[in-house]
Amino acid sequence: MVPEWPSTLDVGELLTGGWRPTPFRQFILKIHSRCDLACSYCYVYEMADQSWRTRPRRMSRDTVEKAAARIAEHAAAHGLPVVEVVLHGGEPLLAGPGEIGHLVRTVRAAVPARVEVSVQTNATLLDDAFLDLFAELDVGVGVSLDGTAADHDRVRRTHDGRGSHARVAAALGRLTAPPYRHLFAGLLCTVNPRTDPVETYRALLSFGPPVIDFLLPHANWSEPPWRDGTATPYADWLIAIFDLWWSTRPRPAGIRLFDEITHLLLGGASATEQIGLSPVAMAVIETDGEIEQSDILKSAFQGAPATGLHIDRNPFDDLLLLPSVAARQIGRLALAPACASCPVGEICGGGLYAHRYRSGSGFHNPSVYCADLLRLVRHVGNTVQAGLSDLTKEAR
Ligand code: SF4
Repeated sequence: MVPEWPSTLDVGELLTGGWRPTPFRQFILKIHSRCDLACSYCYVYEMADQSWRTRPRRMSRDTVEKAAARIAEHAAAHGLPVVEVVLHGGEPLLAGPGEIGHLVRTVRAAVPARVEVSVQTNATLLDDAFLDLFAELDVGVGVSLDGTAADHDRVRRTHDGRGSHARVAAALGRLTAPPYRHLFAGLLCTVNPRTDPVETYRALLSFGPPVIDFLLPHANWSEPPWRDGTATPYADWLIAIFDLWWSTRPRPAGIRLFDEITHLLLGGASATEQIGLSPVAMAVIETDGEIEQSDILKSAFQGAPATGLHIDRNPFDDLLLLPSVAARQIGRLALAPACASCPVGEICGGGLYAHRYRSGSGFHNPSVYCADLLRLVRHVGNTVQAGLSDLTKEAR
């Protein structure tokens, strides 16, 4: 059997050729491996990798302390002035305020750098006790919300099939009230072309998020996404929102995907793994202390994010030299031939790495959302260019 890419990547050859890895700046701590919701599209529980079944439910204090020491070691070795720690799960709030408070204080005490902490939550448990803690420790709060109540409740349900929107909306009401408003980091919404994009956008805006993150549902060539027979349903959905967002001044919220594409078109670098060719500088620590790659890879195959490394034995520098991690840091060199010669290759960057997977060839493919990404990037590019021409005319 031919080994799947990137296991064939020769990191020694890259180093000899002058390539140097980019240190990790973001650490995703999986502090609880279970969730109180059972969302239909969840990559942790509903897709290929089922490693959650054998993990401890909660990260122990011993693991937290070792993780903090490893982050500190990495920050010191690379002279990092700032590191970002994201509390993730499962549902991280299931760990409870006591454990979360201990974790944040432990990491901040250990790491010789500014430690920016945020939590990504479904918000069903986000009460005043958590909010007081997050205000005390300056922890940003990102919330997952999939648009209108009906659309959200169709996919983000409890284990016994009840919708979660009412609880999330109540939590967002608390989070966006004056004492806590500054903690609100934004909303995360999964793209769903079966919903009305403008209604979805307006439902998200009703909570006044500073930023909205639209994520394509996790899929790949072996597990393709839902399609309705049209050529680019995901791009069409996003473009309906983009056109409204672009024509509204001032913009009511940042939309990370559109901001990133615009930034790349104007010659900047991307700051998300969704788009562009910037090196991925993020590592994951699981509840048992295993060091993994992006957990979105769980959507590809069983064990896809596994590295064989553990905070008991390995510094993060060991992770930097794995072929699977180097592949996320070498930009154009890691692109499939179709992406390397693509007219929007520098902007799209082959899309999210997990979405390139095909059983048999691995990740050396264009994104399964290729047609959608091509259309979206071209549409944003044409719109930005038209806007620049108008500005030039006004200036004359
Ligand atoms: S649009 Fe398609 S071919 Fe072009 S870079 Fe993106 S995934 Fe690759």
